[in-house]
Parts: sequence; structure tokens; C-alpha cells
Amino acid sequence: MPSMKNYKTSNLARIATAVRDFLYPEVCTACGRLLVEGEHHLCHHCLYSLPAAYNGNFYENEMAERFYGKIDFKKAAYGFVYQKESLFQQLMEALKYKGEREIGEQLGLYVGAKLRREGFFEDIDCIIPVPLHPKRLHSRGYNQSWWIAKGLSDQSHRIIEDQLLKRVVNNSSQTTRSIKARWDNTKNIFACDYSDTLQHKHILLVDDVVTSGSTLETCATSIQKHHDVQISFFALGMAK
Ligand SMILES: [Zn+2]
Repeated sequence: MPSMKNYKTSNLARIATAVRDFLYPEVCTACGRLLVEGEHHLCHHCLYSLPAAYNGNFYENEMAERFYGKIDFKKAAYGFVYQKESLFQQLMEALKYKGEREIGEQLGLYVGAKLRREGFFEDIDCIIPVPLHPKRLHSRGYNQSWWIAKGLSDQSHRIIEDQLLKRVVNNSSQTTRSIKARWDNTKNIFACDYSDTLQHKHILLVDDVVTSGSTLETCATSIQKHHDVQISFFALGMAK
């Protein structure tokens, strides 16, 4: 039987939670419906309605095709098809511009669970999220790709290595440059110093939405410059 003191404390905690839920009920980011137990940030209805188009083949799929012949990589997977005006696009905007970092974690967990069941992580050693430039990180307060990586890491128990790969050029400061100068510049957006931590490892690079694939490709090139590594790719969304 709990002591009176513990009983009172747990009762108070329960009352405090009930009052908080009453005053600030947690609602689904997408549809605004009140969330029930077991739902976080997104209700199950919205989560299951997302266009999960990934075909289950890590080596031959539409995302992997974007890297064929351009870079040495092992496999590629993505979570959802990214289409304009879709629920998924709204979620990505909330993740990037409205401070809703937990959406990245939630969707990372959701897709990560599927990938784990399919053995995707078995030969992966560590996860590197595409880094933001320090100025961008400071103004946004978080790196959305890191939160996606966190969901994958929680499912796979692979560590996130977020200190070695750095974005050394802030894209937003390039707006006044010529197209030619910008193109030359993309090659040097990222830099990765040598580290034993990465040498001979299989690294999973994680981005939010992949379009041409050039960001992931440039990240991979920066890592491969000084390391003998295997690289695989993951993006939460793939723009068709
Ligand atoms: Zn919903």
C-alpha cells in the first residue's frame, strides 16, 4: 500500500496532467482532431493516409535511380511520395518552418519501424543527417533532418553521428551569385574532416525531401573524399 505522501503526490500529478490536457489538449497537426492515447502529433487516420509508395526493394527503386552512375552507393529508401498541395507537403512545411520538429521524429519512427522489419538497418553502422549551416541552425533552432534521423535511430539503435559532416556554405547567402557561380559552389557546400569513427563504416545519410538528389550526393562525396566507406541514402519524402 503506498504511503499517504506518495499517494498524494501521484494524485496531484494525475490532476496536473488532467488540468494540462483540459487547458491545452494535444491535437493532430494535420486535421486538428483531439489525439487519443498512443497518438503523438498526428492522429492514426492522418498517418495511415500518407502516400507510402516505397516498393520494399532497397536497391532498385525510384530514389536509387537518381544516384545511378553518379556516385558509389549501396542502397536507398524513402518514406513517402512528396506532392504539392498534399497532406505530406503540409507536414514537411510544419517540420521545417513552424517549429514542429516532433513530426520528423514521429514519421522517422513510423517509416523506421517498417525498414527495421525488412532488415534495412542490419548492415548500417551509423546515421548522418544532412547538416544545416550554423547560421540556419541558429535561426531555426533545430535541424529537421536530425529529428528524422532520431526516429530512425530509435528504431534501429544505430548512433547518430552529427559532428563530422558540416555545411560550410549557407545557401541563402548565394542568392546574389550568378547561376554558374552557384553551380560551382554546390560542390563545396559540405565538408567532412577525416575521422577514425567513420573509416570503413557503412553510413546512412538522411535528408527530409529528396528532389534531384544533389544534396545527398554532395554530402556523400564530401565523406568519401577522406574515408573508405559505404554510403546509403534515406529521405522521408521523394518528390516525383
Ligand atoms: Zn489527423
